[in-house]
Amino acid sequence: MTEQLIDLLSRVESAEGGREIHDPATGELVGRTPEASPEDLDQAVARVRAQQPGWAGRSDAQRAEFLEAAADAVEAHAEELARLLSREQGKPLNGPNARFEVGACAAWLRATAQFRLEPEVLVDDDSAKATLHWRPLGVVGAIGPWNWPMMISIWQIAPSLRQGNTVVIKPSGYTPLSVLALVEVLNTVLPEDVLIAVPGRGDVGQALSRHPGVDKIMFTGSTQTGKSIIKDAADTVKRLTMELGGNDAGIVLDDADPEAIAEGLFWGAFINTGQTCAAMKRLYVPDALYDQVCEALVDIAHKMPMGVGLEEHNVLGPLQNSSQWEIVDRLVTAAVDSGARVLTGADPDPDRTGHFYPTTLIADIDPDNELVTEEQFGPALPIIRYSDLDQAIEWANSLEQALGSSVWSSDPERAEGVAARLIAGTTWINKHGAVDPRMPFGGARQSGFGLEFGVEGLKEVSQPHIISR
Ligand code: NDP
Repeated sequence: MTEQLIDLLSRVESAEGGREIHDPATGELVGRTPEASPEDLDQAVARVRAQQPGWAGRSDAQRAEFLEAAADAVEAHAEELARLLSREQGKPLNGPNARFEVGACAAWLRATAQFRLEPEVLVDDDSAKATLHWRPLGVVGAIGPWNWPMMISIWQIAPSLRQGNTVVIKPSGYTPLSVLALVEVLNTVLPEDVLIAVPGRGDVGQALSRHPGVDKIMFTGSTQTGKSIIKDAADTVKRLTMELGGNDAGIVLDDADPEAIAEGLFWGAFINTGQTCAAMKRLYVPDALYDQVCEALVDIAHKMPMGVGLEEHNVLGPLQNSSQWEIVDRLVTAAVDSGARVLTGADPDPDRTGHFYPTTLIADIDPDNELVTEEQFGPALPIIRYSDLDQAIEWANSLEQALGSSVWSSDPERAEGVAARLIAGTTWINKHGAVDPRMPFGGARQSGFGLEFGVEGLKEVSQPHIISR
């Protein structure tokens, strides 16, 4: 471990003062987070602003090298980061969870180092020559959620730095330590003051969104907070990337093989114990396959251990916080009260320690039940029966959120035809939520706007500048 990281970890574990952060699985104290004051935020913005011209003045290749070095640093500290993330967020070390998330941080840094946004010749003839250049925006303010705190921070930081911007990042108040530790690690290799973290609650996020020294906000979180940031950013006409809530549909076609798709369906819905923006949150299954798909999902659910994150065998964890636990419980209770059939789960232990909610599968549920139409963001999947594919597509397209969706079939061509009729930022075939740094990712409708990843993601943190003669 570097001295900086040892220092940070010992500070969060033993410091007097600061707000306590508890492990959502055990209730144990993980550490204490400092909270930024308005003056701290002003200073952070002023510091990164002062460094921005120098950072932008480095060559593109140099900035790419810094991202590669940052990936090396993350890998060198992968296990410490994963253990802290597991304790603070609750997600297990194994499965598509803490070690996977830290690995994704390094992978996204490396991939972002490889992308190149070249100037584009728009017109070159006797009448004119015009070239499109991509300049840095200046200072990017990054605001993130608690579900994938490290990975989503990297999604915001890596393209911003790559394009010559500097960054002030405000972590979620639920998972600040993970982001503070990650930023410490990145800052072991980055030049001073190109990246500063300002831990704090929503008021700090609001001040960042309104700050005249910030040129762009990259936000990932709920649609409700996104709307408030859009208003707060209006006075300074900030650029915005909004990655907001989702309520993704999966549609199984009648030619699918239930056994073959069951594990993909399960992890599509239950990755990170369902606390994932682009997880499958409602599943539509045709009459002909309904019972087989339900049985196959129940079999898998019973094989996936849920428990304390640091215990190596677990692959599902607790909800990160009690508010999210209450949302899941309210929606499942509404479904059960409506007469829907519980295939497994829906019976939280009244004597539990930690915010555990059992893996829950609900069948024979009305398509307009709240568990279907509201984002549950937890380990509870409603499985809706359909007899007419057009009807299933209409249901899938009926909500305000439209982040991702998926189609499951033995015939990929047919699945693509159905995919083309779905409204979403991404539609996956025979998988769900499989984000990839090479493929732009963003939402339709109230799931947001703007793209992350790939060359398109670099454009979002750049100012187009046309030179015409
Ligand atoms: P929130 O919107 O509650 O919070 C997100 C971030 O915004 C936090 O850092 C929060 O701080 C901050 N914040 C709160 N109020 C304000 C404000 N007025 N101005 C500026 N910032 C503010 O989302 P959650 O953390 O609860 O995340 C869950 C939600 O995020 C789900 O709806 C999920 O779908 C969505 N999400 C979307 C993703 C996507 O890519 N589309 C990915 C991941 C999640 P604090 O925590 O301190 O309140």
